[in-house]
Amino acid sequence: MQVDVKKIVVLGTGGTISGRAAAAHDNLAYRAGEVAVGDLLGGVPMPEGFALQSEQVAQIDSKDMDFEVWRALAGRCAHWLAQEDVAGLVVTHGTDTMEESAFFLQSVLAPAKPVVLTGAMRPAGAVAPDGPQNLADALAVAGSKQARGVCVVFAGRVHGPDEVQKVHPYRLDAFSSGDAGPLAVVEEGRLRVFRPWPGGTSLRPATQLPPAGDWPRVEIVLSHSGATGAIVEALVQQGVAGLVVAGTGNGTLHHSLELALLQAQHSGVVVRRVSRCPEGAVIPHGRDQFSAPALSAVKARIALMLELMR
Ligand code: ASP
Repeated sequence: MQVDVKKIVVLGTGGTISGRAAAAHDNLAYRAGEVAVGDLLGGVPMPEGFALQSEQVAQIDSKDMDFEVWRALAGRCAHWLAQEDVAGLVVTHGTDTMEESAFFLQSVLAPAKPVVLTGAMRPAGAVAPDGPQNLADALAVAGSKQARGVCVVFAGRVHGPDEVQKVHPYRLDAFSSGDAGPLAVVEEGRLRVFRPWPGGTSLRPATQLPPAGDWPRVEIVLSHSGATGAIVEALVQQGVAGLVVAGTGNGTLHHSLELALLQAQHSGVVVRRVSRCPEGAVIPHGRDQFSAPALSAVKARIALMLELMR
């Protein structure tokens, strides 16, 4: 009888999970991206019945994430997802921009198989590193028949790509899905699912992304006390293609900033308005001057970049 062994492919991109602690008692003394992804997997329990394969796509601190790496990562994900014997993917990633990469990958892949991002708040070699448990949980989700689409697995929770945000700079449980709550939890390798997995179709297929240098420039501006239109005017002069404004409360804008944004929109710049509040989303109403996606500012920027790509 032929045994049908499925594969989970682990793609490494760097981050603290692949940092080597310089001193065991100091969780901040390390450089991200020193341990190869294949070496992170040693000793991590595998879900039964799966073979493992790893590939290093990048080795960076995710604060430095760029379009080149995103394009390469999306391409490698698309490649592996197309293989029949691949059940799912795990992407090891720094925590700083994990929510952006998760949203980006869901937007360009919209995969039927699970693509699970994970990382760590403490480097390898710390007294109590969190990377191995996060990796074990991520592998369990990647091998689960219940899971689909891109998600972030961290500290026992499974977060969706639209809602997930890093909410703490130090705590091990650094991610939240806000008032939407997590998609699921992982308990001893088993999933307890609360709400539907991400679905839909890709905004722009991974295989059709233009070269990194040709991605449209979209910037984020913030409304705050004493805001003016000066930054918007400077960006328009530089030829920005799109602007996302993070407004106060329900996306309200300082009148000086609003005026500059209306002028920008009039001159052809595409403007999106979101809320700077960490939870909830702008509730649109009939008098809106700018359309308001239910996304954080960093994710609205990615959505607008994909929309404006030629
Ligand atoms: N700066 C690191 C990164 O994002 C932080 C981490 O991984 O926790 O790559």
